[in-house]
This record gives sequence, structure tokens and C-alpha cells, in this order.
Amino acid sequence: MRRVAVIGLGNMGGPMAANLRKAGHSVSGFDVSPRSRDLAAAGGITVASSVEAAVADADAVLTMLPSGAIVRSVWREAIAAARRGVLMIDASTIDVDSAREVHGLARSAGLLSLDAPVSGGTEGATAGTLTFMVGGDPDSFDAGRPLLEAMGRRIVHCGAPGNGQAAKICNNMILGVTMIAVSEAFNLASQVGLSHQALFDVASTSSGQCYALTTHCPVPGPVPTAASNRGYRPGFAAELMLKDLALSQEVASASGTATPLGAAARRIFSEFVEQGGRGRDYSAVVEHLKERSDS
Ligand code: NAD
Repeated sequence: MRRVAVIGLGNMGGPMAANLRKAGHSVSGFDVSPRSRDLAAAGGITVASSVEAAVADADAVLTMLPSGAIVRSVWREAIAAARRGVLMIDASTIDVDSAREVHGLARSAGLLSLDAPVSGGTEGATAGTLTFMVGGDPDSFDAGRPLLEAMGRRIVHCGAPGNGQAAKICNNMILGVTMIAVSEAFNLASQVGLSHQALFDVASTSSGQCYALTTHCPVPGPVPTAASNRGYRPGFAAELMLKDLALSQEVASASGTATPLGAAARRIFSEFVEQGGRGRDYSAVVEHLKERSDS
């Protein structure tokens, strides 16, 4: 049993904290939002009054926060309050530079640290079946593995500090691009009189097969658990996909890498979010693209 402080008890951090507790760890949490605090408390998490109070007795600190700027600020506070040897884990999706900066802060304070962004969404966070993509030194990875296993099914060590974020950004660039490709194919199919189900039956067992099609299918019908069957309630919100595509494009331009489809996906999701997509599942981009066809 370890004492874990979870900072950021939102849609992902709340259920992740609950799974740590279910695995027998003692969890104290903190969030700036009263709603997130109340939900966590109702789920049995001991809610502290500040980052400092949550971290004071912890053996490990897990952050699950919206942005790199917030992670940098919370890690400064947490590191100042943490005991020597504590393991810091950030599971948020943030830019690689911020991840490497906070690793440096932790190392200077004599702490272990991991960047461990996740794939699997709120469903995976609740079921404890997340995939963790982990960056950090081997000692930190060994120390973190049992905690990550309480929240996830697949734990992949991607190498040096920041490499977990690099893997996440590359993975989600694939997802954003393929969701657009799948959406375009469904729109094209209906224009020429081919049913969504018929296209799904063919593509899901042929060379068009991909996660965007078989798990997050953007049209209602073929995949009952997809957001398209519940009016595109997220799931994975369009603005979070836009955030991840923007991170991929920051890295692409800083490293001089040509990612023309990643750039196009970022532009399309940016238009979609500005034109009513905010708060909807990212797979509703199919409707945005369809409107463009009709005009
Ligand atoms: P969320 O907005 O539901 O939760 C974030 C929480 O952080 C909120 O409760 C907010 O109040 C809290 N917070 C903000 N600033 C804070 C601070 N200074 N101190 C303490 N708490 C603070 O977001 P989420 O969906 O849980 O996503 C969290 C992270 O996980 C993001 O980086 C996101 O990109 C990533 N992610 C989300 C999903 C998903 O499907 N939702 C999937 C994979 C990764």
C-alpha cells in the first residue's frame, strides 16, 4: 500500500484516483473545481485543501491536468512540499518541452519522475484499462509500474524523459487523421448510395480497418458503444483532439518534420471546434465535413 496524492480529479483523474483506491492504496486528492472535489469525495477519495496538503505525506504524486502551463505550476508547488525520494507522475497530455522541464525540476529536488500520458479515454480510466506511454529513467519506471498497473492494462516504457508525451502526440496525430479519412469515406459512400453499414462491413475487415472506424465509428449504427449513437456526447471531446493535434504540429515545426496530413487535420479540427464542435465528441467531425459537402 502506498500513499498517493492525485492532483486533478476531473473526468480522467477522478476515476484513476478511484482505481488506485480500489487497488488498496491510500489516496488524497486535490482539485481547484468544487464539482470535481465533491465527485471525488463521493467516490471515497480524501480531499485535501491544497496541493501542499495533499502531497505532504505522499509516497507518490499523480497529476492529471489540462495543460503544460498548469502542470508546470502544480509540479513546482508539489515538489516544494514533497519528501525526498517521492515519485512524481504526470499523466496529462502536454507538450514535450514542459514534460522535460518538470522532469528536470524533480531530478534537481532528488525526486523520481515519469511522464505517463494515457490512451483509452474516460471509459478506460473508469475500467482501469488505460494504456500508459511512459518516459523516464529505469528507476522511476520500476517504482511507478505497480501504480500504473492499478489504472491501466498496458504499460509501455518509451525511453527517456518526455518520450511518453512524444508517443502520445504521434499516436493521436494518427487518430485525428484517420478519423477524418473514415468520415470522408462515410460521406462519400452515402453520396453514391452505399449504406453506412455496408461500408463498415467491408472496411472493418479489409485494408481500411482502423480504430477510428471499428471503435469510434463516426456514424450511428455499426458500433453501438460509439459516441455517434448518443448524439456525439464525448467520449473524447473535439477540443481535446485539437489540443493534441496542435501539440503534434508544434513538435513537427520545431523539429522540421513534414506532417502535411497532421497539419490538415489540425486545420479541420480547428474549424470544427470554432463552428460548434466544442463539447461534442471528435467523431462529430463527420457532420462538419458533410456540411462542407452540401454547401
Ligand atoms: P478535465 O477538465 O475533466 O479535468 C482536469 C481537472 O484539472 C479539472 O477538474 C480541473 O478543475 C483541474 N485543475 C485545473 N487546474 C488545476 C490546478 N491548478 N490544480 C488542481 N486541479 C486543477 O480533463 P480530463 O478529461 O480529465 O483530462 C485531463 C488530461 O488528460 C488532459 O491533459 C487531457 O488531454 C488528457 N486526456 C484526456 C482524455 C479524455 O478522454 N478525457 C483521454 C486521454 C488524455
